[in-house]
Amino acid sequence: MRSAIGVDIGGTNIKIVRIYENGEILEKVAEPTPLDNITDKLFTIVKSLLMSDVIGIGFGIAGIIDRKNGVVLESPNIPDINNSHVKEIFEKKFSLPVVIENDANAYAYGEKLAGTGKEFNNFVALTLGTGLGSGAIYKGELFEGAFEIGHMVIETDGRYCTCGGFGCLESYASGRAVVEQVISLLEKGEKSILREYHNGNFYKITPEIVYKAAFEGDTLSRNIFRELGKYLGIGIANIINIFSPEAIILGGGLVGAWDLFIEELKAEVYKRTIKSLSSHVEILKTILEEGGAIGAAGLVFKKVRGS
Ligand SMILES: [Zn+2]
Repeated sequence: MRSAIGVDIGGTNIKIVRIYENGEILEKVAEPTPLDNITDKLFTIVKSLLMSDVIGIGFGIAGIIDRKNGVVLESPNIPDINNSHVKEIFEKKFSLPVVIENDANAYAYGEKLAGTGKEFNNFVALTLGTGLGSGAIYKGELFEGAFEIGHMVIETDGRYCTCGGFGCLESYASGRAVVEQVISLLEKGEKSILREYHNGNFYKITPEIVYKAAFEGDTLSRNIFRELGKYLGIGIANIINIFSPEAIILGGGLVGAWDLFIEELKAEVYKRTIKSLSSHVEILKTILEEGGAIGAAGLVFKKVRGS
């Protein structure tokens, strides 16, 4: 049986899998994303997973990519790979075909191949990680557009965004947004059990700490996730009104906080969508831990099949 390696490079973690064509995982590795020398790190991990049946390597990379030439054009969350010629570098190193795709597009493909998305032909997948990624499956195939829903403007004079704009959805619904809100509120002196972490150095707080505190009943943390749910709901309502998908599937590290934001999210969706469009849309969470890496590897099989 043939296998392929999939590499998902996110702002926080790198996940690598080796899979069969049906999406079944044979091996997996996860590491924090290093600040520099990412390529050397990846050489080592990919080499450790290489078997004689591997037919290629797929990459899902957070940022804007040139899929034809295999170049990362802009990756605000991972500056070390900006302008990196990933395809050329890895094809030369391993003498195997290499495919590159935006990480959220790869994730959407992973959902279609092996996740919640299997049952649907038209859906939008959102990854709630450091940033907010998005990809779409249209008529059963990956929609190869930018599909940067994270940079949809939802507040005209809103918060600054890493893209250089203001009021983007990602500035309200992402891991980074959660942390920035926490810091801003704690700097103002608001009460929270978050002050007990890292000896009171709240600049070190991560989104995971905030949702743990929220589950323990911390009011400040709970309000932050309610706000995230509200804005994400507005963004999803816009997607439904434009795209009319069968489902919206949420993945990424912050889905662990699902119960903290889903009520507000759904309330906004139903308030702001055309009823005949929203009544049949399912809003679901992922069952995959490595959806992006699975999708990246799946795209290798797709390329080899020529479909
Ligand atoms: Zn933006």
